[in-house]
Amino acid sequence: PDPTLRPEPLPEDEGRALRPQMLGDFIGQAEARANLRVFIQSARSRGEAMDHTLFHGPPGLGKTTLAQIMARELGVGFRMTSGPVLAKAGDLAAILTNLEARDVLFIDEIHRLNPAVEEVLYPAMEDYELDLVIGEGPAARTVRIELQPFTLVGATTRLGLLTTPLRDRFGIPTRLQFYTEDELHEIVSRNAVKLGVRAEPEGAREIARRARGTPRIAGRLLRRVVDFAVVEGGGVVTRDLADGALTRLGVDQLGLDGADRRYLTLMAENYSGGPVGIETLSAALSESRDALEEVIEPYLLQQGLIQRTPRGRMLAQRAWDHLGLPVPRPQGP
Ligand code: ADP
Repeated sequence: PDPTLRPEPLPEDEGRALRPQMLGDFIGQAEARANLRVFIQSARSRGEAMDHTLFHGPPGLGKTTLAQIMARELGVGFRMTSGPVLAKAGDLAAILTNLEARDVLFIDEIHRLNPAVEEVLYPAMEDYELDLVIGEGPAARTVRIELQPFTLVGATTRLGLLTTPLRDRFGIPTRLQFYTEDELHEIVSRNAVKLGVRAEPEGAREIARRARGTPRIAGRLLRRVVDFAVVEGGGVVTRDLADGALTRLGVDQLGLDGADRRYLTLMAENYSGGPVGIETLSAALSESRDALEEVIEPYLLQQGLIQRTPRGRMLAQRAWDHLGLPVPRPQGP
């Protein structure tokens, strides 16, 4: 599938240009934002490290961005790593002992921590302490190291894969939601200004409507539409130009891309709309089960295109309508 349409990070996302820098510039997630504002102010006025915070939700919704904003609003340092990168307990210990007082440590994909590394995190989160084992065999002994108070911000696309002890150590669990069309419209309009591009309101709205509820995708689609605007549209993003460009990019009227449509079409044509088990879908689509569960399904569920039942996934009426196919009549025994 076209990587510009997937919500996982690409190198171009590293460009800081489009990231909101402060809570006030961050659009959407109103509830999360209002709560964070209170917890940040409280931590600041008490002069203490803010409580550990867990962001969960589909990729590209702003977990990393919010973690960076927290550090900036708290006026503290920001360190970033990710679950799969921390291979050994010592890797995490090295990072923890280098933190300054009240710093924010961001661990992305925290559900993918190695259990030995996770063990180190428990006392660090709870008591700002590290138990290091020095030496081997009978000579081994444990040394306790005091850490500076710090704020751990964890991010995960799969809350269910977090172990209970880890989950319980986050004082502020926060779920991020898909963005509304209006919120994405605002984000696309502001990004167009930052990129120095003229976008008509209806042009920006077309991108917002087809961005799969996800700011990262909105940012990518805007960049691609701008390419078309520059070459074929006199540099202006109009509704027609955006519509044509998005259609050529394989993004349909609901914002679904090729992978989404393959999923829905397979269910309709090969399984009469289900129920189908996730493993069967994964094999038939040659997509990993994780990719289906983390990336493709959340948006299809949110849009009411599929349902999850104990017996497997099922197509909803709206998906049949979208595919332009009649709902098959139940087959009698
Ligand atoms: P996640 O960590 O959840 O995968 P990121 O924080 O990396 O997502 O955000 C993905 C992209 O979307 C970034 O380029 C970021 O600038 C942009 N973005 C996310 N949330 C917002 C928002 N509320 N307003 C504007 N841009 C946003």
